[in-house]
Amino acid sequence: MPIQVLSATLAAQIAAGEVVERPVSVVKELIENSLDAGAESIIVDVEGGLCASIKVIDDGCGIPQDELDLALQHHATSKLSLLNELDNIATLGFRGEALPSISSVSKVTITSRHSDSISGHRINYDFGSKVSESAVGTSIGTAVLVARLFENVPARLKFLRSNSAELSRVKDLMQQYAMGYPAVKFQLRSDSKTLFSTTGSGNILDPVIAIYGSRTAPDMIRISQDETDQAYRVEGFVSVPALNRANRSYMTLFVNGRLVSSRTMTHAVEEAYHGLLPERRYPISVLNLVLPYSDVDVNAHPTKREIRFLNENLAYTSLQKAVRKSLIDQVPVSTVGRTTFTGRSSGGIYPYPTDRTGSGSYSQMDFVQGRTDLFSTQAPNRELLTALHVIGQVRSTYIIADGPDGFYVIDQHAAHERVLFDGIVEGLEHRYLDPQILLAPVTVNLSPLHVETLHNHKELLSKYGFDVQEFDSGAYLLRSVPSMMSVGDPSKSLVDVLDMISVEGLLRRHEEIVAASVACHSAVRAGRVLRLEEMNSLVQKLEATTNPHTCPHGRPTLVRYADYQTEREFGRR
Ligand code: ADP
Ligand code: MG
Repeated sequence: MPIQVLSATLAAQIAAGEVVERPVSVVKELIENSLDAGAESIIVDVEGGLCASIKVIDDGCGIPQDELDLALQHHATSKLSLLNELDNIATLGFRGEALPSISSVSKVTITSRHSDSISGHRINYDFGSKVSESAVGTSIGTAVLVARLFENVPARLKFLRSNSAELSRVKDLMQQYAMGYPAVKFQLRSDSKTLFSTTGSGNILDPVIAIYGSRTAPDMIRISQDETDQAYRVEGFVSVPALNRANRSYMTLFVNGRLVSSRTMTHAVEEAYHGLLPERRYPISVLNLVLPYSDVDVNAHPTKREIRFLNENLAYTSLQKAVRKSLIDQVPVSTVGRTTFTGRSSGGIYPYPTDRTGSGSYSQMDFVQGRTDLFSTQAPNRELLTALHVIGQVRSTYIIADGPDGFYVIDQHAAHERVLFDGIVEGLEHRYLDPQILLAPVTVNLSPLHVETLHNHKELLSKYGFDVQEFDSGAYLLRSVPSMMSVGDPSKSLVDVLDMISVEGLLRRHEEIVAASVACHSAVRAGRVLRLEEMNSLVQKLEATTNPHTCPHGRPTLVRYADYQTEREFGRR
């Protein structure tokens, strides 16, 4: 077939494929337009299924009558004029492609009244061609109705899933936007039933409560940053480690208010939880990375969901540090029934005023109170530890202490591991992890896998004080071990460290694995009787660590039995 120029209609339909893949893409573009128009309320109304009719109604600035037709033309936008503006995009839209693309695959009716105009106007387009235009009485703002979506592109219809599956994508998307724009009222209706709504109160936790439930509120931590004058800022909320999920879909990320998917950012958030969450568990988070517009390329993808950072490293570390710092500063001690490691939450045990009513949900007032508790009276762990009064030991394994709001049970091994781990990491920073020369070198037989690990990490191991030399094939001579480790069986310690590197090496930083493994080997075992002075000294040392409430593997070092819970157990409440 000879080369031909495609008809305008066909070209538009092909182009539309990039922007409108499925109904949720239509909703995304229309919501973004409403947000760009400064809307304070956005209603998405679905009738008879998403492909039959989607209407998005906003109270934004509206479109002037003489620009209505332009809005539906390709490359027509009010948001960008000069090429150099492309480097400084502050609006969500800028390509001028959404409305014409949607219009080429559906029947579009736009009703709009501009804020300067005394009346409204309506235009109708059928699959890309104008049908009618009329004056209408309407309030300021814009309503875009998209009907019979994809009717002229049956191929696209075939790839859609059931209406309820597509509708749940729309709901997910709207919920994400609602969390990013707490001052905007969002509502999703389907056949007159409200599926989801927010109040637009401006309180950034309100949409989180509307979406994930009031129980999550006390477990969300506001990101705090000391240096607010930084060029890269982070705003939002993340969950305490005890509140975690089995997949990443609860991590909502924005860059300058734009909803994005970014591996860099996801990874930075996960890294911030390093050692706090068990493997393959993920936090709930709503984060907005605010940076100069010129530092991010938003024009990297037709749906604008993927972006490129000018300084990827800075974006990564800003996010990672802000989240990590907030976590370390604010994470409360696990309370029994909601421990970090199981990720289970029995709920109702947190000592918050509203939980006591047993109503199970927060009213606006209650919540304000609950939040004050969370952010001001929740003592940082260090202070908490100073306040602990050690009572004694049970099962030769746990230390029992009296403290604020309840009594505390400390896992002696986990606590000691944390203390040693910090000591090791600090020692390495100052390069003084002394080796302990063994009185007589020990022969170790290593498997081929161990040998390979040993060779690949020889330098690291020697930095930690392991001196291992080959003297026969497969047989090695161990001359020294890290000094704090010398109490145990040195060859077993070496093999364990090698095992940990080969098993966990792909998942964690090698340095940390070795440090955690050395700490684990040297820490006091469960089952060892401790004297009161030893217990007090351990608690004091724990207080000085970077992260007193978890061991290097992410398990808790201490849990609280809240007064509230004990009182309930004894029927006092
Ligand atoms: P873009 O958003 O990239 O500019 P669109 O095709 O989505 O392109 O929209 C074209 C133009 O129509 C926008 O630039 C804006 O001026 C106008 N517009 C679209 N939707 C709205 C709305 N809800 N409120 C006000 N103006 C709108
Ligand atoms: Mg747009």
